[in-house]
Formats: sequence, C-alpha cells, structure tokens
Amino acid sequence: MARRKQIYEGKAKILFEGPEPGTIIQYFKDDATAFNNQKKAVLEGKGVLNNRISEFIMTGLERIGVPTHFIRRLNMREQLVRHVEIVPLEVVVRNYAAGSIAKRLGVEEGAALPRSIIEFYFKNDDLGDPLVSEEHITAFNWANPQEIDDMMALALRVNDFLSGLFAGVGIRLVDFKVEFGRQYEGEMMRLIVADEISPDSCRLWDMETGDIMDKDRFRKDLGDVTDAYREVARRLGVLRETESSGQTGPVLVSDNEK
Ligand code: UDP
Repeated sequence: MARRKQIYEGKAKILFEGPEPGTIIQYFKDDATAFNNQKKAVLEGKGVLNNRISEFIMTGLERIGVPTHFIRRLNMREQLVRHVEIVPLEVVVRNYAAGSIAKRLGVEEGAALPRSIIEFYFKNDDLGDPLVSEEHITAFNWANPQEIDDMMALALRVNDFLSGLFAGVGIRLVDFKVEFGRQYEGEMMRLIVADEISPDSCRLWDMETGDIMDKDRFRKDLGDVTDAYREVARRLGVLRETESSGQTGPVLVSDNEK
C-alpha cells in the first residue's frame, strides 16, 4: 500500500487523503463493534464484502438519481469517494419494528410499522448516539430545516430503492441507517449520501426463513456473521454463484483486484 496521509480512523473504516483535491480513500476494515464500542471482534473478510456491497448499492442509487459520495472502487478494500462535510446525524429509516424502537416503544419485534418512520440520532460516541428531534437539530445547528427536509426526502428514496432491491432477492429490509454529507461546489452546496450502506448498517431478514443476515448476528452472538454477509452479496449478484458456498473467504466476480 502506498504511503499516504490518514485523515481519520473510525470503528469499521479508515479514511486517507485521496489522489485529487476533493477526494478521499475509504478503506474497509474487518473490525466489528457494537453497543457503542463495548463489544469488538475482527470478522475476517467483512471489509471486503462491505466494500463490494456498498459499491453495488451506491452505484444503484446514482443510477436512480440519488447523489452519493461514491466515485469508484479502487481494490478489494478501498473506494474513492468525494470529500464531504459529514452532517453529525445518523438517519434511520424503519419499515418493521426491531432493535431500539421495539424496546423503547414496546412494539413487537418484526411488526410492520404503520408507515416508514424516519429517526435522527446525534453522532456522538461519548453520548451513545442519542435519539434527537428536529428541534434539537435546528437549535444546535447540526442541520437547518431545509437540510432536514432534503435528508428525509433522500432517505425515503433510499428506502424505496433498497426495499425493492432486497425484496427482489428474498430479503426484507427491516431498517437501515444512512449518513449525509455536504458537498460544496463554488457557491452551491448539496447533500449527498455518504459513509456506507451494508449489512453493518441495515437489518436484513430472509423473507422465507426469517434468518438474520446482518450485524445483529454479531450483536446477538448468532455466529456465521461473514457467511451471512457473503450470502447477501451472492444474492445481489456481487459474488459468483458457483464460488459462493463453502468458501473460507469471499470470492469476487471481477478480476481487476489489486
Ligand atoms: N445502526 C447503525 N449504526 C448505529 C446505530 C444503528 O448502522 O450506530 C443501524 C442498525 O444496524 C439498524 C438501524 O440503524 O439497522 C436501527 O438501529 P437501532 O436504532 O434499532 O439501534 P440498535 O438497536 O441496532 O443499536
């Protein structure tokens, strides 16, 4: 790997300075964390799978006109993305009750919600990413009302796209988290989808069996975490059919890997 400047190291990714101004290299690690960093593990091959799955999803979003930070995949673990100013919010869209909403509001796990529900969490590990309202967001200037509207509209478009994409391969999109960044072009600013969209940030349940195919396997100690991610990748067509079972590591379709 060429020597280059590290900008930031997060829980599952490292960001390096990109080759041109306005770009960043996003490196996907195998590290998994949950419960605000209290639980940690290295899941061999996870980073490779998330790099590919996120690439596939971001490319699909671009194709339907949802702007994202994704430019191109560079190799097994890295992608070139646009440099953005991250909005300090995690935007969660829920279609079925699971995780924190089931606990907080006493809704039965797996129950269909009356409509898709959008929630905002303040990105702050020290505080454990608390749920916040639009009042908090505007009062503390994390985003303005126009940006909140834009994020909600974009999040719903992402939800429609992902729900259809996953339903087509027999997977229920229960909920997911998305992050947005501000991209500045001269006087103009626009919000684009940033970070990653992968089984680390979605709840994905097999429509037939109800099997969990996402990071909850890690949170709940269900085992076979990367196998489940690999199956998601395989169904999406990111991995070759014939090479996707019984492998110890992920097998990639493209041969232009570094
Ligand atoms: N999520 C995430 N990062 C976080 C918190 C949540 O990607 O820091 C995702 C999570 O995987 C799920 C959705 O957001 O798909 C909703 O998560 P929830 O609020 O239920 O929190 P959890 O119970 O997973 O902590």
